[in-house]
Amino acid sequence: MARAVLSIASEVYPLVKTGGLADVVGALPAALAAHQFETTTLVPGYPDVMKSLSGQRATMQWPDLFGGPARLVEGEAGALSLFALDAPHLYARAGGLYGDAAGKDWPDNWKRFAALGQAGARIARDRAFDVVHAHDWQAAMAPVYLRYSDLAGPPSLITIHNIAFQGRFDASVFAGLGLPPRAFSIEGVEYFGGVGFLKGGMQAADAISTVSPTYAREIGAAEFGMGLEGLVAARRRDVHGILNGIDAAAWNPQTDDHLAARYDARSLARRAANKRALEAAMGLARDEGLLLCVVSRLAWQKGIDLIAAIADGLAARGVRLAILGSGDKSMEEAFRDLAARHHGRIAARIGYDETLSHMMQGGADAIVIPSRFEPCGLTQLYGLRYGCIPIVARTGGLADTVIDANDAALAADAATGFMMRTSDAQGLAEAVERADAIHRDAAAWRRMQRRAMKADFSWTASAARYAEVFNALIGSAQR
Ligand code: ADP
Repeated sequence: MARAVLSIASEVYPLVKTGGLADVVGALPAALAAHQFETTTLVPGYPDVMKSLSGQRATMQWPDLFGGPARLVEGEAGALSLFALDAPHLYARAGGLYGDAAGKDWPDNWKRFAALGQAGARIARDRAFDVVHAHDWQAAMAPVYLRYSDLAGPPSLITIHNIAFQGRFDASVFAGLGLPPRAFSIEGVEYFGGVGFLKGGMQAADAISTVSPTYAREIGAAEFGMGLEGLVAARRRDVHGILNGIDAAAWNPQTDDHLAARYDARSLARRAANKRALEAAMGLARDEGLLLCVVSRLAWQKGIDLIAAIADGLAARGVRLAILGSGDKSMEEAFRDLAARHHGRIAARIGYDETLSHMMQGGADAIVIPSRFEPCGLTQLYGLRYGCIPIVARTGGLADTVIDANDAALAADAATGFMMRTSDAQGLAEAVERADAIHRDAAAWRRMQRRAMKADFSWTASAARYAEVFNALIGSAQR
């Protein structure tokens, strides 16, 4: 018999998305169905959610949910079964999901996401779900409300997509959460004298997961744990690292409509047409030499400043660079400046452009991802699938998915990319130099592309891991 999962999240692709979280929440239900799990996804009733939900049925009411009435609206969006928490006083507003148009956090975010957690806990109990899957700090209060209730509820898993975002609030909000006083403690939501939603959820959930095995280890240490390393270490036995999969239909070089020429591992010669198209689109000189690309948020996390630091050196060696990204204003400026100084060698497109991101993966020789930390990372997975060889930092999901072209891996014909030996500009420069040297040997480069394209990072294997964790939780809850 199928088991019922209540997945709780603040984003779900394709309805509302600001990052990789939405992709995971949107893709897992279909992948889990193969393991006899039926998922219903609870999301805030943002305007974009309410208008895309078909077959709407209101099934639960709250006369007063954190300052106003709310109801649960059930419906479908594509293949997804959805619960929307329709609470206009919390979610019906113009602007972003977490803040206003200027990017300033909504001052009542603690109420907005405590409400999501509290409603989720009630739904999980009343509708007899077998397991709760809470994503990130915005859903982290669901396990907390389940734990501090007098009523029995299902077991829960909390998944951390990025531990840098923790949902920390002033201690004064505690009084409004409707939790018993004992919840303001080390075992509860108290965190460095304030309230920590993610921290509370990690204490209360029966299991914790994050999106790669290496990141799961890293967040147990101060360098990556961002204050939560002690808790991760204490719960080590309950912490799982499960890689994200990619949308194998949207990211398939054989069928990708964004490309000038479609190709597979046997028809790599066709890729040259995409390189020409990318050069033309970006205003780069036409050239057979190594063409690097960057598709990224321009943020400290992503190590983008390291690329800027070595860009002059790259141009001097004849390596070209195409950048697509937006974010940090000073980095946007730095790349505009580099592009102006190295016309035809370095080109930057500041903004978000889905089509261009596909053209980069399908036309550039390599994609550069020198992240300081990377919970999983998707662009290296697209790069592998497209034969756009990843040049990456040795951290998180990058370390778990790319096989560095060291001598042993080259001798064994196993390498799929290049890993920085040190996490600094020099380490990046050295990795690019190694890539450039192999790229000059067309046959060796093509062998590497073919190997990269064979790697399988679809959801199949990862969904099986989630199913294992859910089954174990349900099994121990029944004992
Ligand atoms: P993160 O979620 O930390 O930003 P990921 O690598 O997990 O990093 O996912 C980033 C996603 O956003 C990828 O699908 C990538 O292609 C896409 N992306 C990032 N920046 C841009 C951009 N400027 N234009 C188009 N797509 C982008």
